[in-house]
Amino acid sequence: MLLEGKKLLVTGVLMDSSIAFHVARLAQEQGAQVVLTSFGRTTKITTAIARRLPEPAPIVELDVANPDDLAALADRVREHVDDLDGVVHSIGFAPQGAFDFMNATWEDVSTAVQISAFSLQALTKAALPLMGEGGSVVGLTFDARYAWPVYDWMGVAKAAFEATNRYLARDMGPQGIRCNIVSAGPIRTTAAKSIPGFEQFEEAWGSRAPLGWDVKDAEPAARAVVALLSDWFPATTGEMVHVDGGYHSVGA
Ligand code: NAD
Repeated sequence: MLLEGKKLLVTGVLMDSSIAFHVARLAQEQGAQVVLTSFGRTTKITTAIARRLPEPAPIVELDVANPDDLAALADRVREHVDDLDGVVHSIGFAPQGAFDFMNATWEDVSTAVQISAFSLQALTKAALPLMGEGGSVVGLTFDARYAWPVYDWMGVAKAAFEATNRYLARDMGPQGIRCNIVSAGPIRTTAAKSIPGFEQFEEAWGSRAPLGWDVKDAEPAARAVVALLSDWFPATTGEMVHVDGGYHSVGA
């Protein structure tokens, strides 16, 4: 099994459509012990959804915008496992105003950047005391090298997220911690449905991706996350792996 004996912290399980749900499911199937995070009133939903995983998974409280939660994270995780081999960042949020490029306020933009980009550094730093033996940090992006329809300031936040991954890789490398992200094609999750006009991506992907693309299937992206958590990418860090049916490689 790919993740035999590994202990992982997986953020971002909300519904069973969540990319993180499929990461947690596959990770357990591949032999990992998984601790989940959730926060506030979403914890109730995460708790119900976690029952659909192959194995029970404890849930610790973490709002990545809350400094107290970040400071307490290592101790909260230690109640369930002694240390961690990997951390999955599957968190994204932007206020509705952020999806209107020319009218967004700094408040909209700063929230998007804090929760969707800065949080990669914040989460990694909070989990660092548990990764003394090295490890793997994996996040999820929507290729931010381009200007997309409607993605707007979330696209800018994702560009910051991708840059954060590279700086994190630079600073964590000497401690044996690899940092990589998966750039997924559009998947019909709660976060995606909150983007006004998300259907535009769905249509474009279906007709352009060389391998085709199923917006209802999070498994390909989740498999790539599991692979990056495993020992099979030992010399890869600061990387962005596309799991988009090949869409990024064609011009029209
Ligand atoms: P999702 O709505 O299922 O997951 C988003 C998660 O972020 C939720 O679990 C939510 O609770 C969590 N979250 C939001 N604010 C938080 C906070 N302050 N603290 C802690 N957690 C918080 O949607 P998803 O599509 O599975 O999103 C997971 C990741 O995948 C995101 O980074 C998203 O941008 C990325 N992604 C999604 C798609 C897509 O089309 N769905 C494509 C590429 C990348």
